[in-house]
Amino acid sequence: MTTNHKNLLRLYVSRETISGEENAELSKGQIHYLRNVMRLEKGGTLRAFNGRNGEWLAEVTEISKKKAIVTFLEKIREQSTSSDIEILASPVKKEAFDFMVEKATELGAARFRPVICEHTVIHRANEERLKALSIEASEQCERLDLMEITPLESLLNALTNAWPSGRKLIFCIERAEAPPILRALEAHTKAPLSILIGPEGGFSDAEVRAISAMPFVIPVSLGPRILKAETALIASLACIQALRDRSP
Ligand code: SAM
Repeated sequence: MTTNHKNLLRLYVSRETISGEENAELSKGQIHYLRNVMRLEKGGTLRAFNGRNGEWLAEVTEISKKKAIVTFLEKIREQSTSSDIEILASPVKKEAFDFMVEKATELGAARFRPVICEHTVIHRANEERLKALSIEASEQCERLDLMEITPLESLLNALTNAWPSGRKLIFCIERAEAPPILRALEAHTKAPLSILIGPEGGFSDAEVRAISAMPFVIPVSLGPRILKAETALIASLACIQALRDRSP
């Protein structure tokens, strides 16, 4: 990608494939954004991606109040895939949970799984809205693949139904004798990882006992302070990504 392309607006286009010379029609929201916010006109260029086929230079070939069409010109970045890190997190208050989805996207999580724990207060997660938020974050952070967001499920189901062999669960647990995250992860920088973050009220004693006894679980501490769930997500994911970047 050249420096010129770097300054171009970036849009997700919802289509199975992208290839040269093809056209795509943009959504109502994108038309509004292009015309009224970015003031893009016919002949203007932008970057487009669909989460699968890399990033494309595209030209606006038609734009009106009701319709906008872009034509894909050339591929400017090859597709890349985020490393296999998933987040299991209890829903918390709306703004905080939105923030968690946005930060998980920026920090390169592959999957986000909302899970209901014993102390979870909010028993809903609007999958479609969270997907839209995550797509916006992907557009902004130059990510090429989309973070998958799965339907709300119970924590126990998630941990007991066919847990994939080789995958480790990083159990973020406050006020425990767990080792610091960096030390605990040293031997697992390459393994597929899941990170578990609890609700505002933390995990119940029964959950702590049951989860700690599972063979794929690595309990970790993020320090002596009690962090909000969103801070715990950012801190744990940043540590894991930093370790992965550093390992050969
Ligand atoms: N209400 C709980 C308490 O007072 O002990 C705090 C829960 S905290 C707001 C939400 C989640 O963030 C926790 O369940 C845990 O997963 C994670 N967390 C917060 N601080 C942490 C720490 N120091 N180490 C590891 N995980 C932490």
